[in-house]
Amino acid sequence: MADSADKGGRAGRERTTCCVVGGGPAGMMLGLLLARAGVEVTVLEKHGDFLRDFRGDTVHPSTLRLLDELGLGERFARLPAQRLTELRMHIEGTTFVAADLSRVPGRHKYIAMVPQWDFLDLLATAAAEEPSFTLRMRTAVTGLRTDASGRVTGVTYTDENGTPGELAADLTVACDGRDSVVRAAAGLVPRPFEVPMDVWQVRVPAPDDRRKRGRVFLSVRDGQVAATMDRGDYYQTSYLIAKGADARLRAHGVEWFRERLGDLLDWDREALRAIESWDDVKLLDVTMGRLPRWYRDGLLCIGDAAHTMSPVGGVGVNLAVQDACAAARHL
Ligand SMILES: Cc1cc2nc3c(=O)[nH]c(=O)nc-3n(C[C@H](O)[C@H](O)[C@H](O)COP(=O)(O)OP(=O)(O)OC[C@H]3O[C@@H](n4cnc5c(N)ncnc54)[C@H](O)[C@@H]3O)c2cc1C
Repeated sequence: MADSADKGGRAGRERTTCCVVGGGPAGMMLGLLLARAGVEVTVLEKHGDFLRDFRGDTVHPSTLRLLDELGLGERFARLPAQRLTELRMHIEGTTFVAADLSRVPGRHKYIAMVPQWDFLDLLATAAAEEPSFTLRMRTAVTGLRTDASGRVTGVTYTDENGTPGELAADLTVACDGRDSVVRAAAGLVPRPFEVPMDVWQVRVPAPDDRRKRGRVFLSVRDGQVAATMDRGDYYQTSYLIAKGADARLRAHGVEWFRERLGDLLDWDREALRAIESWDDVKLLDVTMGRLPRWYRDGLLCIGDAAHTMSPVGGVGVNLAVQDACAAARHL
């Protein structure tokens, strides 16, 4: 990892006030808020687009309210979304309502399920309306610049052509997610928490007569756990497996998984044939960890870069957004 001394003189070096590394929920929200406050901000994102599947699509009432406050509520409402209003649990034959979002204070009494790329596109479009905002896609940060005192003074990166460059900044904010390159370059080490599970995620088209519209449904039976979320024409289905058991369990045929899921969710085997092979089953390697200290001189870490969340409750996106709000206010 590069950690270049700030000796100056490099041709073509650029400068910004705040360099945000990573255009996920934390980075795009921070970029938008700082730009609206008139701060010159440059977001560097290594991918060419925001497309990701099975990545934190749960936009909670707190984030929906924030979007209203930012004047983005109407634009958000035009995105393709499902509204989850209730969490039901089915545990060993007994069904009950575990969470009823109609009791949440405020205007939005639901969790909006919105593809994360649509949400990020919306933030990027709103931020691009601010003259002090720059978003550079296909730009991968490779390390940090530091001065003689060790203060972070910006980043090193490679652009879309693989050409290395440097961006000097008064402040660098690491929003580059759970495997943060910036965090590692800064020598900040998260404290890990033990996690007993990983998660398999699949899409299953649910037969119409079994639709549980607007619901998250958690089923627990015989030591197995699965959750389904209504996504309109399919269910986003999460099935818990023991930590590290992915390869061992995939040694079974995929029909073994279809059977288990069918038994657990009491689903029609025909619908489950949509899971054609293990390629349709994505592994979420669940990790949890938190930095004991989120900053170094000239550098701040927020979002997953500071605290990788368990997927339980779908809070990751919303905490990343809240970090951005808190950071923007202080900055
Ligand atoms: C498979 C999966 C499923 C999840 N499901 C949910 C869910 O249902 N609900 C929920 O709330 N949360 C979920 N999460 C967690 C959620 O996605 C994160 O908590 C949230 O996205 C954190 O936002 P962030 O902006 O901090 O980081 P990220 O969303 O991880 O964004 C980091 C960004 O930085 C970019 N980046 C990384 N390295 C570099 C670099 N070197 N240079 C430039 N850019 C870089 C990445 O491309 C990415 O765009 C899930 C996570 C995973 C992995």
